[in-house]
Formats: sequence, structure tokens, C-alpha cells
Amino acid sequence: MTPEEAIRTANEVRERYFARLEGPLDFTRSMLSRGPFDQRAGPEVVRERHIACHGREPYSLVQLQAPCERRVEKDGFHYCGSCGCPKAKGTRLDVGPDFYSKLEYPWLACPLKRKGFSNHEPP
Ligand code: SF4
Repeated sequence: MTPEEAIRTANEVRERYFARLEGPLDFTRSMLSRGPFDQRAGPEVVRERHIACHGREPYSLVQLQAPCERRVEKDGFHYCGSCGCPKAKGTRLDVGPDFYSKLEYPWLACPLKRKGFSNHEPP
């Protein structure tokens, strides 16, 4: 094996290793940011995330842009179809007065790194 091949193999192994760890690490980081007292992201952050996922502001029916193509619906609620989370109450992308929305986690990653999310990368 040439040094170049060894470096390429090492890089591939490292990328695969980190790709597998990314989801669990993001989940852990979100849970830690929520803390034991249900801390929430600020309203402007939730608004930006809501627009990224649904194409409209929270509690508004005015569509500002198309909903994210990765958003999926189940039993009247919306979920991210790409993050690997189960479709449960705690992972809803919707907001409501009677539950903690996934969009409210102070630290939250988006698979597409959209605006408002903690891993946002401008295009
Ligand atoms: S990919 Fe990002 S913007 Fe799209 S539904 Fe998932 S969390 Fe929302």
C-alpha cells in the first residue's frame, strides 16, 4: 500500500466512523441543551426553524416558501424524515402550547444545515 492509499483509507475510515457517531452525538447535545428544566430556544430561533421546515411562521397560515422536502407527516403531525429520530411526541416539528416541540431545543441540528439550526452553514 502506498502512503497515498494509506492516507485515503484512513480518511475513509474516519469519515465513516464520524458519520455513524453524528446522529447520537447531535441527539445527546440537544438533550443536554434542554436540561432538566425544559429550557427552550428563543422565539426568533424557533421562527427561523419553523420557516425552514414548514415554509411558514409558527401559528401562521401564510406560506412564505415551500415546506422542506424532507418533512414527513404522520397522524396529523410533522417530523423530519432525515434525522433518524422516531416519530414521537418529542420529535414533532410542529409547535403547540401543550408540548415541547423539537424546534424548541436550544441546540438542534438540521440534516440540511438550514437557517435557525445550530449547525447552520450559509450556502
Ligand atoms: S431537513 Fe432540516 S429543514 Fe428539513 S425537515 Fe428536517 S430539520 Fe426541518
